[in-house]
Amino acid sequence: MNILVINAGSSSLKYQLLDPISGVLLAKGLCERIGIDGKFTYKADGKQTLDAVDIPMPTHSEAIQAVLDALVDKDNGVIASMSEIGAVGHRVVHGGEAFNKSVLIDGEVLKAIEDCIPLAPLHNPANLTGIRACQKVMPGVPMAAVFDTAFHQTMPPQAYMYALPYAWYENDKVRRYGFHGTSHKYVAGRAAAMLNKKPEELKIISCHLGNGSSITAVEGGKSVDTSMGFTPLAGVPMGTRSGDLDAGILQYVMNKYGMSIDEILSTLNKKSGVEGLSCVSSDFRDLESAAEKGNQKAALAQEKFAYEVKKYVGAYAAAMGGVDALVFTAGVGENDKAVRAMVCQGLEYMGVKLDPAANDVRGKETVLSAAGSKVKVLLIPTNEELMIAMDTAELVKQ
Ligand code: AMP
Repeated sequence: MNILVINAGSSSLKYQLLDPISGVLLAKGLCERIGIDGKFTYKADGKQTLDAVDIPMPTHSEAIQAVLDALVDKDNGVIASMSEIGAVGHRVVHGGEAFNKSVLIDGEVLKAIEDCIPLAPLHNPANLTGIRACQKVMPGVPMAAVFDTAFHQTMPPQAYMYALPYAWYENDKVRRYGFHGTSHKYVAGRAAAMLNKKPEELKIISCHLGNGSSITAVEGGKSVDTSMGFTPLAGVPMGTRSGDLDAGILQYVMNKYGMSIDEILSTLNKKSGVEGLSCVSSDFRDLESAAEKGNQKAALAQEKFAYEVKKYVGAYAAAMGGVDALVFTAGVGENDKAVRAMVCQGLEYMGVKLDPAANDVRGKETVLSAAGSKVKVLLIPTNEELMIAMDTAELVKQ
C-alpha cells in the first residue's frame, strides 16, 4: 500500500508518495503559488522532471488534482490508478493537548484541529485547507493527521509547565508543547534499531539541528522534555530565531526603540539567531566559510550555537539520570561535522567520545563515537515524511 504524504502551507503544498514498508520514495514534489497562479514541480526516479510548470491552482483542490494527475500520468506517472494510494497522511503542526498520537481524520478530529488554531494561527488553518481539499478530490480515501506536537505529549508536568500564573495554563493552555515531534520520534526509533536495543531500554538525547532546531530527551521511547516551548521560538538559537532569552529584554528594547510587540517578535523570529549574531547569514555553510576567513562574529555565532546545544545535552542527561545515545539530525546535524565536534567537546566526563575520523561524514546513518564510548553518538538523517507514512499505514491497518 502506498501512502501520499501532504504538507500543506497557505499557498504551497509539498507531497511525497511512499511505500511505508520498504521506505521507497516513488515520487515527490511541490505546488506553489496556490491562489495566485500555480507552479507545479514533480520528481520521480527514471521519469521526466517537471520544474515549476504553470498549472492553474485557484485553490488547494486544483493543486491536489495536479498531484494525482502527475502520479497516474501514463508516461511520467508511478502508479496505474488512484486505487494504488491506500491512504493520505497529513502533517499538522499543532494538536494541542487533544492529540498524543496520530489519528484517522473524522469530523471530530477536524473540529479539534480547528480548536488548536489559536495556538498555531499560521499553520493549522493551512493544514486544514489541505485536508479538506484532499477529502474533496479523493472521497473515500482514508486520511490521517500526524502532529508535530503529539510525540511530546508524554512530558511530565514539571517539564511542560511554565512557572507562570496557573490560570494561564488552566484557562489559556499556556504550556510547553514542543515541535519537530515526528522527526524526534523517527530518529529515536532508528537509534534503537542501530543499537539493536528496544526503545524502552534507552535514554536518548535527540538533536534536531536545522534552520529550526530543537533538542529532545527521549526516555524509554517517550519524550520527557524538549527545548521548544509554547511556540517554536524557544530553546537553542536557530537560523534566525533567538531561542531562549530573558523576557525583561523585550520591555527594555521596546521602550528604547518605541517598538511594538509585533515588531519585536518579528525581530526575534526573523532577524536573530546565528544570523542576528553573526551579521553574516542563517546558513551554517556561510558561517563556516566566513569564520575560516577570520570573521569573529561568524565564529562566535557557531560557538554560541554549539554551546547552547551542549548545555541542553547536559540538562537532559541530568533530567533522565544518564544518557545512552546522542543523536544528530536535520540539515546542520547531518552535514556539519564542525558543529557536531564542538557540541561533543568537553562531554568526555559524561562518557561521550567522538571518533574524529567517523565524524568526517555527511547525511548517512553512522556511529560517530569511538569504540568504547559509553554514550553512543549517532548521525541519523531524519525522514519526517516516512514517519508520517508509517503512522498512517499503521492506523489504516487497525
Ligand atoms: P533544515 O532546516 O533541516 O533543512 O536545515 C537547513 C540548514 O542546514 C541550512 O540552513 C544550513 O544551515 C544547514 N546545512 C545544510 N547543508 C549543510 C552543510 N553541508 N554544512 C553545514 N550546514 C549545512
